[in-house]
Amino acid sequence: MSVNIHPSVDGGVKPAAPGFAGGTLLCGCADHKVEVTVKAQTAHNHVCGCSKCWKPAGALFSQVAVVSKDAVSITANGDKLKVVDPTAAIQRHACTGCGVHMIGRIENTGHPFFGLDFIHTERSPQAGWSPAEFAAFCSSIIEAGTPADQMGAIRGRLVELGLPTYDCLSPPLMDAIASHIYKSKHA
Ligand SMILES: [Zn+2]
Ligand SMILES: [Zn+2]
Repeated sequence: MSVNIHPSVDGGVKPAAPGFAGGTLLCGCADHKVEVTVKAQTAHNHVCGCSKCWKPAGALFSQVAVVSKDAVSITANGDKLKVVDPTAAIQRHACTGCGVHMIGRIENTGHPFFGLDFIHTERSPQAGWSPAEFAAFCSSIIEAGTPADQMGAIRGRLVELGLPTYDCLSPPLMDAIASHIYKSKHA
């Protein structure tokens, strides 16, 4: 069985370029593309199996990274963006022309990841972004229609690509969330 995890990792995970300091992200429209400028390298890039992240056609997982929101600006055609679900913790701004999610922003100042934007670096013409490091929310692809009996092959392929598989986020991110909750209760 051939497993298409995501186009950015299916051919092998490429390392970050030393000193890489950001670039632009473009939506999929033929013209009047939405452009987002990111003036920093990303962190915690990963493939995500949840049903909310934007995925390219044919991919089982999205690929999504975080970067400080202070490094992110919408530099062209931002009027085409619309928040997919205003009630979600992550406000995913999608292009109304092509459907690509350009930024996922957290507006709740009490959220553990407040201050970070979620971005899909595959939308960038520049190479050198931080690579995927793990696979998050793997079991959630079953909710989107993947038969459960394919999960062994899919998890096996992820491990082969060097991506540890989790059914939530990675341990460092889960620890960051739990630390935030502890601090908010014991301030
Ligand atoms: Zn578009
Ligand atoms: Zn996701």
